[in-house]
Amino acid sequence: MKREDIIKGKENNFMEKYTHFPEGKYITIAVLREAQSECIFRTEGSGEGLNKERVSLGMENKVKDFRAIISKRKQCAVERRTGREYLRLNDLLFTTKDKSLCALNKNTPCGKCLDCKTNGYAVGDGGAQKSRMIYDNAYSILPFNMVTGVKTFNALYDNGTMRDEKGNASSSINEDEYIKPGTVFMDMITFKDVTFIEFIYGLSNVLRSKRYGAISSRIGKMNNTILKVAFSDCELFSNLELTQSVYDKLAVASEIEFPLETSKVKEYAKQSFEDLKKGVFGNVTELNEVELSTLLEYIKSVYQEDGEEKAADLFKEQSKQYGE
Ligand SMILES: [Zn+2]
Repeated sequence: MKREDIIKGKENNFMEKYTHFPEGKYITIAVLREAQSECIFRTEGSGEGLNKERVSLGMENKVKDFRAIISKRKQCAVERRTGREYLRLNDLLFTTKDKSLCALNKNTPCGKCLDCKTNGYAVGDGGAQKSRMIYDNAYSILPFNMVTGVKTFNALYDNGTMRDEKGNASSSINEDEYIKPGTVFMDMITFKDVTFIEFIYGLSNVLRSKRYGAISSRIGKMNNTILKVAFSDCELFSNLELTQSVYDKLAVASEIEFPLETSKVKEYAKQSFEDLKKGVFGNVTELNEVELSTLLEYIKSVYQEDGEEKAADLFKEQSKQYGE
C-alpha cells in the first residue's frame, strides 16, 4: 500500500511542507478508549484520588454528576513516549547544541525531530514550537460511580514486599480507587496544519500506545479505536459535547449500564459526530468507512517488515524536510 492510495484527492487537507505560518487546516480524530485492565489516572504524587470532573451527563439530560477523566497531559505523555521510542530506535532523534540527545524528561528537546516539531517543545534560549497535535481530556461515558471501585491492600514495606526483614506481615491497610476494566472513554484529538507524514506519526502513536499506567505497573492497559477522521477549516465541537451526546443516545435506548456494549457506543458516537457536525460554522469533510479502514491498514503496513512503504523511511523523509 502506498501513500498515494490514501492521500489522493485529499492533498489540500495537509500541509505540503512544514511551515511556521498557520493555514487553518484542521484534522480531528474521534477516539474510543477502552480500559482493558484496572486503571489509575491521577495527578502523580498528589496523594489525591482519581481524576474526575463534575459535568452535565448529557446535552438533553441535564443531571450533573462526576465523570472519570484521562487528562490530556497523560495521553500526550504516553503517546509521545511511544513515538519517541520508534524515532530513537531508528536514529531519528537529534542532539541539542550542547550535544545532548533529544529527551523530554531531561528537558533537552532537540527542536528538530518529528516529535519536537509535531508535539511541540520549548527551550531556554527562546526556541519553541507550539504543539500541532491538540489533546483534550477524555471523559468516561458513564458516571464516575459506575466505572470505579475501591480496593484495600496491605501497604508494602521498603523492600517491596508485604513482609518486613523479620518476616512479619504488613498490617497497615491502604485504599486505592481504580477504574474498572471495560470502562469506555470518548476522546477527540485535533491536528493543526500538519503534513501527511506528521499526521501518520501522530495517529500511529495513538494506535500503538497500549499502556497508560505508570511504566512499572501492570495496570493501565488501554485499547484505542479510531472512529472518525474529519477535515475542516475551523475547530469542531468539544469532546465533552460528543460524550454527552453519546450518553443521551444510550439513555433514550435504556442502555445505561456497566459495562457498556462497545459496538453500540461506536454506533452512537458516529451518529453523535454527524449530529454535532451540523452545528459547525465551517466546511467539514470526513473519511468514509472504507477510506478510514484503508488508512488504518496503511498505518499497519508501514510498521511491518513487508510493508511497501516503511514508517522509518517516511519519518526520515520528514526530518530531511525540516533540514536534518
Ligand atoms: Zn526532538
